[in-house]
Amino acid sequence: MPYRMPSQMLPQSVDALKLCQQRARVAGSLSVSVLPRLSGQLQSGEGEVEAELVFGVDEQSRKTVAGKIQAVLSMQCQRCLERVEIPVTATLSLALVWTDEQAAQLPRQLDPVLMESQQLDLHSIVEEELLLALPLVATHSEGSCEPPGSGIANPALDETAVGRKENPFQVLAALKSAGKRDD
Ligand SMILES: [Zn+2]
Repeated sequence: MPYRMPSQMLPQSVDALKLCQQRARVAGSLSVSVLPRLSGQLQSGEGEVEAELVFGVDEQSRKTVAGKIQAVLSMQCQRCLERVEIPVTATLSLALVWTDEQAAQLPRQLDPVLMESQQLDLHSIVEEELLLALPLVATHSEGSCEPPGSGIANPALDETAVGRKENPFQVLAALKSAGKRDD
């Protein structure tokens, strides 16, 4: 029986050994906002991540997780400093390991995931892969935006045009009355 998720939400924690033995496929979505390390790198936590993960056992009896992750992430354009939507796709090819020796023996194409139990945190795997897939510099397409301040400045917004609300004589009066007070 293939493993079927009851809902479209990607589960956070799964029994990875069981899913590998079942050669299960787990697909679902999650909100960018539940991934704090990722959303901290973004302009906003808006957006959905779609993930599809296939568990298995290879001919070396290694437990593997292969999959694809897609998201549209809100970043800051490094040209105009406004928000830009960046589509990000990550493919992953992981092997579950329980020791550093197992990790060292993996072929190049498999990335190790060091396990502490049978449970695997899918949200942190998705977050890690998206962090690696983020572009270093996000911008709108060439010619579609301009750096801020390239237009004509509005003199009404000049700081010197805004009067100070505080009255200096009131401050002086307060100082004088404090000095007069005798204990
Ligand atoms: Zn821009």
